[in-house]
Amino acid sequence: MSALIISGKELAKEKRESMKKEVELLGKEELQPGLAVILVGEDPASQSYVKAKQKACEEIGIYSVLYKLEDNVTETELLNQIEALNNDPKIHGILVQLPLPAHISEKAVIESICPNKDVDGFHPISVGKMMIGEDTFLPCTPFGIVEMIKSKGITIEGKHVVVIGRSNIVGKPVGQLLLNENATVTYCHSRTKDMKNITKQADILIVAVGKANFIDASFMKQGCIVIDVGVNRLESGKLCGDVVFEDAKEVASYITPVPGGVGPMTITMLLFNTIQSAKKSIVTVK
Ligand code: NAP
Repeated sequence: MSALIISGKELAKEKRESMKKEVELLGKEELQPGLAVILVGEDPASQSYVKAKQKACEEIGIYSVLYKLEDNVTETELLNQIEALNNDPKIHGILVQLPLPAHISEKAVIESICPNKDVDGFHPISVGKMMIGEDTFLPCTPFGIVEMIKSKGITIEGKHVVVIGRSNIVGKPVGQLLLNENATVTYCHSRTKDMKNITKQADILIVAVGKANFIDASFMKQGCIVIDVGVNRLESGKLCGDVVFEDAKEVASYITPVPGGVGPMTITMLLFNTIQSAKKSIVTVK
């Protein structure tokens, strides 16, 4: 039987329509959520991600401003820019597009963003709060994945989740969020031995490796739920995930496509976090 598709594109559209209405209502209270995006250098992939984020903001009425900095900008200049945005009342979210040039410390940059405006959820304070289950900005890709799973009415509690990948922006936090939802979580990574034996036990298999067509149906249990986070560009120019979609969909009960899966939800959760931040700013001022 062929798996049901969890379409991030459709879920994102639904969520963005309701966010647009929320932004309109906030406008009546003279509050417009604002997102500042900082892009350093000319990396084409980063440029296209930033463009997509700005377009999404415009579509739902979030004020967005882009700071394009040369790739020889100094770390101090970048930190000064962030400090100015930390103090700008029109800005509720600050996003620095990663990766940064080698002469700039990503750690210093992430830690310089005020946690109240950390809509990417990468600041150590946000990460710590997520870990202990406190209210905070959740990192957008993992947050989007949880929303996609829940959108299909799938019960997470008690499920065995296997995450392949342990990066700080995807693998580790998605496992943590699902643990917070009472799943049993196992991580696999490049040093994992006999990975197939582990992935075949997964009720929910999350693949975040960054290698085209890395996981096929032989890694899956019949009926499992497959979330493909990978985005890989083939020589043909086509995008593909880490999972061999056509093969996996014959074994899985649900599967996310690439493109049109996790990607659109990542941006949607960024919009969500920015709106939440704006709302919290009124509470803080009052
Ligand atoms: P990353 O930082 O490069 O991490 C990749 C992970 O894969 C690492 O933990 C690595 O293990 C593991 N890995 C590598 N080779 C492996 C192997 N042979 N067996 C098992 N594990 C292996 O990548 P990332 O930032 O997490 O991103 C992963 C993918 O998701 C990329 O394709 C990226 O473009 C995509 N992505 C998509 C979105 C979206 O919105 N759709 C957002 C973010 C990322 P070690 O830790 O042991 O090295």
